[in-house]
Amino acid sequence: MKDMRELFRRAARFIPGGVNSPVRAFGYTGGDPVFVQRAQGACLYDTAGREYVDYVCSWGAAILGHAHPAVVEAVQRQAALGLSYGTPTELETELAACICRHVPSVEKVRMVNSGTEAAMSALRLARGYTGRDRIVKFAGCYHGHADSLLVKAGSGAMTLGVPDSLGVPAILAGLTTVVPYNDLEACREAFRASGEEIAAAIVEPIAGNMGCVLPQPGFLEGLRSLCNEYASLLIFDEVMTGFRVALGGAQARCGVRPDLTVLGKAIGGGLPVGAFGGRAGIMDRIAPDGPVYQAGTLSGNPAAMAAGLATLERVAAPGFYERLERVSRDLTDGLARCASEADVPLVTHAAGGMFGLFFSRETAIGDFTQVAACDGRRFRRFFHAMLQRGIYLAPSPYEAGFVSAAHDSAHVERTLEAARQALQIASENAG
Ligand code: PLP
Repeated sequence: MKDMRELFRRAARFIPGGVNSPVRAFGYTGGDPVFVQRAQGACLYDTAGREYVDYVCSWGAAILGHAHPAVVEAVQRQAALGLSYGTPTELETELAACICRHVPSVEKVRMVNSGTEAAMSALRLARGYTGRDRIVKFAGCYHGHADSLLVKAGSGAMTLGVPDSLGVPAILAGLTTVVPYNDLEACREAFRASGEEIAAAIVEPIAGNMGCVLPQPGFLEGLRSLCNEYASLLIFDEVMTGFRVALGGAQARCGVRPDLTVLGKAIGGGLPVGAFGGRAGIMDRIAPDGPVYQAGTLSGNPAAMAAGLATLERVAAPGFYERLERVSRDLTDGLARCASEADVPLVTHAAGGMFGLFFSRETAIGDFTQVAACDGRRFRRFFHAMLQRGIYLAPSPYEAGFVSAAHDSAHVERTLEAARQALQIASENAG
């Protein structure tokens, strides 16, 4: 049995912060991260053999649950045939065709290796296609860590971007206009101010990087109209929502068609994949057919394509998303009931296999300012009390929660039992 504190200490000797992606370090909650040894279905198992019901699901990638036999078999079969060729394969075409079949606005799609790469490439394409440089993004929406996208709002209704990280050239951040989520009036103002310069507005159609925040009725429709009016492209970042909130992603739920769509996570079934796609007339501007350069040694990797295909075949089964959303709602409704019994103010959201929990007295949570005003101390107490009881939530209130097809009513019951105690503890200790 390995002590997790010791594992983390050793990791930090060789890896910055001991992790390969910052949120894994438990910086918000404090405490040592859980080192996972294996995962099966809805559960993770740490190096001490402890079991956790997993509501992170590899940050949304594990839509079928962990180590699904069909995905494992597809990867093993492909591995035996070779892991990477650097040539075209039929698998790439089949996954691309599958995405085009299901995602309403996508006619052609290019595979990459991560959501970051996909969003970065979609942005370059939008700039190349329109001949414009400025982009509009929304406070609290994350699109990976490409320079122009690593920018959040300052105060006020609308701010010109300032970098979120050292190393982002101010000149690039200055080309990003940041607007509050769900604030159509601020969008109008941004377009009135510089509409002719705006290549694209990029948005998470259901936000998942400030908890899970839903678009208000008319927000995405209004954004679509503004982009039409100013001949700017509308990009939906569906890295999280794609094949997670519905078979056709958030765009299928809301009925708004973006010009470009960014995908990742679930389409790789747990292996590293991203993709961006859209109308053929726009996608054909990419090299080798067009002048917008984009490339990748491992793009369309056969093992990742095989895992993605095995996954998407299964999520296309009738009733898949209805069941997934039922489990999410049973969970969030149950947590809301437990919170109410413990006299803890809690707002919950659910969409498909995504959910959000907000310790807040607000009646609704619709933007980053409201999320940032939630009770962080209570979240930390709740998180640790749940972890001790074998429930693995994301270690930050700015992350969405995820359920997979492997989660069932027994997992939900187990979670609610833990939550009854954890909410009591969170409430006793919160200030
Ligand atoms: N876009 C969204 C909406 C995301 O949630 C993420 C990651 O969480 C990304 C882009 C970046 O994807 P990746 O972490 O695969 O680079």
